[in-house]
Amino acid sequence: MTPAAQPGNLPSFEHMLGTLVQTPSVSCTNAHYDRSNMEVINHLANWLDGLGFETQVQPVPDTPGKANLIATAGPRGTDDPTGAAEGLVLAGHTDTVPCNESQWQREPFALESADERFYGLGTCDMKGFFPVALQALARHDLSKLTAPITVVATSDEESSMAGARHVRDSQAVRARACIVGEPTNLQPIYAHKGVMMMSITLSGASGHSSNPALGLNALDVMHTVMSELIAFRTELATKWQNPGFAVQVPTLNLGCMRAGDNPNRICDHAELQIDLRLLPGMNFDDTLAELKVRVSRIAEQHGTPLTVQLFTNAPALETKHDANLVRYLEGASGKSAGTVAYGTEGPFFTALGMETVVFGPGSIDQAHQPNEYLAHNQIEPAVDLLAGLVHHYCR
Ligand SMILES: [Zn+2]
Repeated sequence: MTPAAQPGNLPSFEHMLGTLVQTPSVSCTNAHYDRSNMEVINHLANWLDGLGFETQVQPVPDTPGKANLIATAGPRGTDDPTGAAEGLVLAGHTDTVPCNESQWQREPFALESADERFYGLGTCDMKGFFPVALQALARHDLSKLTAPITVVATSDEESSMAGARHVRDSQAVRARACIVGEPTNLQPIYAHKGVMMMSITLSGASGHSSNPALGLNALDVMHTVMSELIAFRTELATKWQNPGFAVQVPTLNLGCMRAGDNPNRICDHAELQIDLRLLPGMNFDDTLAELKVRVSRIAEQHGTPLTVQLFTNAPALETKHDANLVRYLEGASGKSAGTVAYGTEGPFFTALGMETVVFGPGSIDQAHQPNEYLAHNQIEPAVDLLAGLVHHYCR
């Protein structure tokens, strides 16, 4: 079924996207839905190998069945006279979110072309980016590159970002610039907020509700903790603003609480989950430390043990608005650079010294939705823009 890839030759766009869509690679914090991404990695490796890339499958520690793919062509380790790395990275994630099949009017794991759109899970977020990138790369004679081009395909972006964290920690990639091909309707995105999610747990003591002195009510203390968090939120918003964002201040959302068991028992246990979205430039560690000090002080005053457990920690992206890559993409796409409300793997590439911009085909409005699709009219412009970018950075 799969035509063998010849050097400089690729299966059709539709064939590649169809293959990727029908290869489930859901990542999820719930192990029941979580799947390996190895098959997707293997397909990409085959096609890139066929184009003449050197491919490396990089297993991701502590996540069995998950791997990144790092594929490189062109001269290695080229630096400019100042010692800065040369070349370009095209990066994307191989996983998708889970889907609720009953809400789909189509088959999520089969590509369907209709209404000038490709339907299927991951078409826009973001399996569609890979065939776009491959077609752009196929337009180049790799033997003529003067700087390296690297394709990075990661695991678990939708859950833990373990794949991109491992790319950063292993320092496996070097380049001047990086495109993270999440769906932006081909608008260059130079910044987004960071996110921390955590649970705050208080342990009280139960007793008969008729006499409050018989126990220690965790909900009563949580009420004070919540007031403190709301005060902290107001202070953060007073101190930090960035007019580049639709929501110009950091946010702190009280998202979920579980506590107690019965109205006539003193509540002995309360857990609150919050999400905190920080602007670029805000220090995660300092903000978390201050939050911990403030809520711990309340717990101490009441003699209630408190723990704060961080379960998501994704940094903000902050590339300078006038960076070379941003300016180039504004010119090439005809669209002014902007910011987005969602997080990406971009900051992990920034940490490796690359100018990083989020830029890809499709709209985030269709991501994580039933009947996800990639509009046909996004594809050709995206291939043209990426091919131009490779020329700009690697020829
Ligand atoms: Zn995505």
